[in-house]
Amino acid sequence: MTRRKSWDTYFMDIAYMVSTRSQCPRRHVGAVLVQGKKLLGTAYNGAPMGVPDCSEAGCMLVEEYEIKRVDGQEQVVAKQRCVRTIHAEQNLLLFTDRHDREGSIVYVTDQPCWTCANMLANSGIAEIVYHRSYPKDQDKVMALMNQVGIRFRRLENYEPPAGTDEAVTN
Ligand SMILES: [Zn+2]
Ligand SMILES: [Zn+2]
Repeated sequence: MTRRKSWDTYFMDIAYMVSTRSQCPRRHVGAVLVQGKKLLGTAYNGAPMGVPDCSEAGCMLVEEYEIKRVDGQEQVVAKQRCVRTIHAEQNLLLFTDRHDREGSIVYVTDQPCWTCANMLANSGIAEIVYHRSYPKDQDKVMALMNQVGIRFRRLENYEPPAGTDEAVTN
């Protein structure tokens, strides 16, 4: 007998399935909105409708500088990021109603970046559950979630459905 999936696993599996729709080769992110165990919306990172996506037009890369601490020393590291896509969390907010979101849970394959976290903080949701971590913005995102009282947790001991957990280029 196979054990019945927990709700966490069930909704995170859906988020991973949704993420496979993404056409950005650098990162496939999926997000779902859940209200009282009911699925109210799904979204992935992608270019706006009617606009060529990363698979057709290539990624739109910008270079950013990050401060990293290595052995107690601060180092400035240049990193490339694709800005062609609207992030999954932002698309999720664009395609759901504020009223539906009040008190809901967002399951997202990746820990939200600062901008998405800031928007989610103002979206009416009550909880965020993520799987893959994103250390870059972690400290400020966690501080924000504490301030606004949104539950924020990583899904531990979780295995994404086969073939959905893409290698991520940073
Ligand atoms: Zn891209
Ligand atoms: Zn984001």
